[in-house]
Amino acid sequence: MNTTKRPRSVDFRNGALICTMCKNDRFYKEQIKIDNMIAQVMNLHRPRPYANCYICSKCKHEHWMLD
Ligand SMILES: [Zn+2]
Repeated sequence: MNTTKRPRSVDFRNGALICTMCKNDRFYKEQIKIDNMIAQVMNLHRPRPYANCYICSKCKHEHWMLD
């Protein structure tokens, strides 16, 4: 993970994404490729096998978003 990036706020539906663990609102963004097997198991039908992962800049809790 590239930790030199600046954490930033994330728009999520009607508001900003807030960490469920520490209420922080700054995250590092990582784009993760979903393995085809996992996508099938999870019954995901996606044109691109990617998920966004937002990692809390304070507690490192990971928040997964499928767009
Ligand atoms: Zn947090």
